[in-house]
Amino acid sequence: MKWTFNLMRVRGIEIKIHLTFLLILALGGFEWGRVHGAPGVAFGVLVMLALFACVTLHELGHSIAAQHYKIPVREIVLLPIGGVAMLGKLPEKPQQELVIAAAGPAVNVAIAAVLAIVGGPLVTLDGHGLVEGAAPAPSVATFLTWLLAANITLVVFNLIPAFPLDGGRMLRAVLAMATDYRRATVIAAGIGQAAAVGLGLLGVLSGNFILALIAVFIFFGAGMESFQAKAKTVLTTRRIGDAYNKHALTLNPNDRVSTAVDYILTSPSCSAAGCSGW
Ligand SMILES: [Zn+2]
Repeated sequence: MKWTFNLMRVRGIEIKIHLTFLLILALGGFEWGRVHGAPGVAFGVLVMLALFACVTLHELGHSIAAQHYKIPVREIVLLPIGGVAMLGKLPEKPQQELVIAAAGPAVNVAIAAVLAIVGGPLVTLDGHGLVEGAAPAPSVATFLTWLLAANITLVVFNLIPAFPLDGGRMLRAVLAMATDYRRATVIAAGIGQAAAVGLGLLGVLSGNFILALIAVFIFFGAGMESFQAKAKTVLTTRRIGDAYNKHALTLNPNDRVSTAVDYILTSPSCSAAGCSGW
């Protein structure tokens, strides 16, 4: 992926940051800085860095589960919308996909549990200052509360059964245990696109354009997933013989044009309606 730079390497996996990721740091600094001045800027950036550390751990959860099944993980890229773990190939069995997809949100459940235990009485999940979108005063309690809320949000959001979210993959894996992979993907992608339309409407009606943007991302992600699954099915069910043209004509520079025309008119793979190609 272009515009990325390497951050570190964990278990042979390159962790990269996309340049646009800096936007999210700036946004955090701006939100808190507006209300609390310079200390607010530092706090906002710190909160965003902590959030993306949690996102990285989430992606590492997927990656380590994939490595467990001998699936190579090429890299993890951190984008403003979250992280992406690039797997070298798709999991073979639905059970493997289910475990790999669930491993990410499971990490955030663990982080949230640790934050709730460590934060203890400091953490107040009454949503004070969080729901109104205001930046509550920088403090350890704010930091822990915000991060706990963020991890819970990550779990809930990722479990929406819509591609390319983890919930969509988990749904496909469960469906694929009952039917074939292609049908499972088409059904799961359809549910994903319906969920995306719902989220998009919610985003537009409530004026939450980030939500609307995420909905667009999910909608096209679901379409891509469905396309990839169909392509995978074709590639695994077609033989090489199906793919190469048995009736190809080889011409040399001295041949007459009429040779090619005659061939086209008499070729068994062509008809008046056009050639049936692959
Ligand atoms: Zn995930």
